[in-house]
Amino acid sequence: KESTARENNVAKIKVVVRKRPLNRKELSRKEEDIITVHDSSFLTVYEPKLKVDLTAYVEKHEFCFDAVLDEHVSNDEVYRETVEPIIPIIFQRTKATCFAYGQTGSGKTYTMQPLPLRAAQDMVCLLHQPVYRNQNFKLWLSYFEIYGGKLFDLLSDRRQLLMREDGKKQVCIVGLQEFEVSDVQVVKEYIERGNAARSTGSTGANEESSRSHAILQLAVKKHIVVKDTRRLRDRDANEAKNTKAVGKISFIDLAGSERGADTTDNDRQTRIEGAEINKSLLALKECIRALDNDQIHIPFRGSKLTEVLRDSFVGNSRTVMISCISPNAGSCEHTLNTLRYADRVK
Ligand code: ADP
Ligand code: MG
Repeated sequence: KESTARENNVAKIKVVVRKRPLNRKELSRKEEDIITVHDSSFLTVYEPKLKVDLTAYVEKHEFCFDAVLDEHVSNDEVYRETVEPIIPIIFQRTKATCFAYGQTGSGKTYTMQPLPLRAAQDMVCLLHQPVYRNQNFKLWLSYFEIYGGKLFDLLSDRRQLLMREDGKKQVCIVGLQEFEVSDVQVVKEYIERGNAARSTGSTGANEESSRSHAILQLAVKKHIVVKDTRRLRDRDANEAKNTKAVGKISFIDLAGSERGADTTDNDRQTRIEGAEINKSLLALKECIRALDNDQIHIPFRGSKLTEVLRDSFVGNSRTVMISCISPNAGSCEHTLNTLRYADRVK
């Protein structure tokens, strides 16, 4: 009973907005900060506009979300606001997803990077608590990327991965390497290894990563002690390695939201990638909305991203979206797009 109460305390879908500070470049250009965070859930965007006769005026846009974090909020506070409340219920068969959405340069990676490590810390702690220690729970990590609609394992030399659906409609990523992690230092090493694999794409660091979705998963599994291995069915023996999934949390650093608009670019490859990103961000929004409305039919099939996340959207699931926004006037249009996207998710 107690656990049910705790589960209910964590909203099914939470939308959080995070505003980053003006950076050095923006400050040196004397760009204006056009976003005011009024309290922990309310913000205003002051959009600079020109009348036909070229006189300047400001259009006000007000938004309300589950939480709005201003430029003074630390990554640790972001963790406490978003992921921390979910961790205990991962041990009670919950699947959770935490997204960072926003234009390139708005702080998605800055926001997402520390979260899995902090989560792993708390999860390792829980593993050692008496209730779970006796249940043979273990923590597993995987890290992959979706780029141009294809999956690549960031922990095995960017090997391309394929997706398959089994008889029970469970999505399985064939060949995805998962590593058992029992201490935080090891988690840190895997994350760094994966990050390095992310930035060594064909044309180099940031450009490349802004066109891909990076997905880091931490799964809790129960290890089954099998006395008589002959009684294990082949599938169980091979796929599950004598483990049973308990819960899982996925951290997703999404492609830059402005990339979805690259569909008219001169370069054919860029256009194709832009279309794929556009498709996946639309599908994601539709899935989260369907989830929020308790719809039976969740439109996973809309994109690779949502197909991969299928098992995280069914049953007992939690979704946290962190919308990252830049404060400068020059980003106003993208910022409004991001806030409207976040608004529609809710
Ligand atoms: P994105 O992943 O959305 O493209 P980044 O996370 O790479 O954006 O952030 C762009 C730049 O802004 C980086 O140099 C990052 O360190 C900085 N930055 C982002 N958010 C913050 C923040 N909240 N506080 C301080 N610096 C930040
Ligand atoms: Mg990034």
